[in-house]
Amino acid sequence: MKKPDSLKEILQHIAICPICGNDYRQNKANLFAQQENVNLAHISCAKSQSNFIAMIIFLGQGVSSVGMVSDLTLSDAERICRLKRITVDELIDFHKLINNDSQEFLNFLTALPPNRLSE
Ligand SMILES: [Zn+2]
Repeated sequence: MKKPDSLKEILQHIAICPICGNDYRQNKANLFAQQENVNLAHISCAKSQSNFIAMIIFLGQGVSSVGMVSDLTLSDAERICRLKRITVDELIDFHKLINNDSQEFLNFLTALPPNRLSE
């Protein structure tokens, strides 16, 4: 299968809104990340106002897609996509934190400002 050249080609693989059944092809959709054969699209349903994020992967002879209903707006999705990746060391440190001392973990959570994700 040929790699798609446009958002329109990618969105042909997404049919309907999982919330209301509206035809997605008539809704506002934005491709917000693309790397090699992997594409991330954000779609807002005009009828139900729900948001949907789809990952469409073009593999050799076929297409695979995974999607989820989301409360993320397009700008949220774009911002989160640009965040620095979590390293293995950070993941191990976090695992130690939640396993070794639950009080320290609770202190960590309560010290975070409520809008931490919006930074
Ligand atoms: Zn809908």
